Amino acid sequence: MTSGSHVASAQPAKASSAAWTSSRPPLLRFLDRCHADFVAETGGDVARYIPELSKADPSHFGISLATLDGHVYEVGDTKVPFTIQSMSKPFVFALALDTLGAERVESVIGVEPSGDPFNSIRLNAENHPFNPMVNAGAIACSGLVHEAKGAGAFEHIRRELSRFAGRDLGVDEAVYRSESLTGDRNRAIGYLLRTNAVIKDNVAEVLDVYFRQCAILVTARDIAIMAATLANRGINPVTGEQVTTPYAIARTLSVMTSSGMYDYAGEWIYRIGIPAKSGVGGGILSALPARLGLGSYSPRLDRHGNSVRGIRVCAALSRHYDLHMLNRSDDA
Ligand code: GLU
Repeated sequence: MTSGSHVASAQPAKASSAAWTSSRPPLLRFLDRCHADFVAETGGDVARYIPELSKADPSHFGISLATLDGHVYEVGDTKVPFTIQSMSKPFVFALALDTLGAERVESVIGVEPSGDPFNSIRLNAENHPFNPMVNAGAIACSGLVHEAKGAGAFEHIRRELSRFAGRDLGVDEAVYRSESLTGDRNRAIGYLLRTNAVIKDNVAEVLDVYFRQCAILVTARDIAIMAATLANRGINPVTGEQVTTPYAIARTLSVMTSSGMYDYAGEWIYRIGIPAKSGVGGGILSALPARLGLGSYSPRLDRHGNSVRGIRVCAALSRHYDLHMLNRSDDA
């Protein structure tokens, strides 16, 4: 982290005393309240499609918000590592756009919402993935990066995601192995993509990149900063580094808006109005352009695969600060 950044307190809400509470900035007090209110929400369940994810502690709950001037606000379990899963998809899409160019990427991946579950094997009328936020499109993106970087593809992805987070990110090897051992549906998608010339390289190698990228470890704090980098036209507000091009960022936020929240995407943008992506590890990353990045972690998922508490936090934040992106005026 650069010396210019400021980190607000990371104390959980329950630790607050009256005097300490009143000295906390209003935004942090709001996040405290969200944490205290929504920690009581015990609906939903941890992901169980691989044994490793079912070991997640359902009580974990962290909220982090990064502003574009580099302040990072944190409440609760914001230092607990968990796997990024589908939240890797927007970043690898941005990376594919910057690495291979929009023309190449758009020649094999669409941008329409699919209306299908994230792991659907259906392709669009051109036999291409519907968009980069479903597994087929994300595997195609990993394939494109593999096309450009060969055996160095995963390391390239890991390094780029680390620049978004502003620190070196590792991999949960147990989750990676578990994904790989049980990933036949994703392999089926991979072979379907190859037979339609969306993937040109060896499918097993591409899938290995995809499984590893899903197993990258992040915290709620990391995803708040990664989201803030998306909201800041590709400049990490904590490190000051230009991580990716504004062009790739605008396209990435577009597909997050239309397809980021599984088959809840329409409802999400209607009610909350902030481009977002969730992952079955329990994270939700929300990026409001020119404003903020929000990262939440709570592994209890609803039937769509979205974190139950994470949705509550985003909805409360959007409502309280009037953040719906389609409810703006010039002087906002
Ligand atoms: N690794 C998971 C899969 O490809 C990602 C699922 C998700 O987070 O949506 O099935």
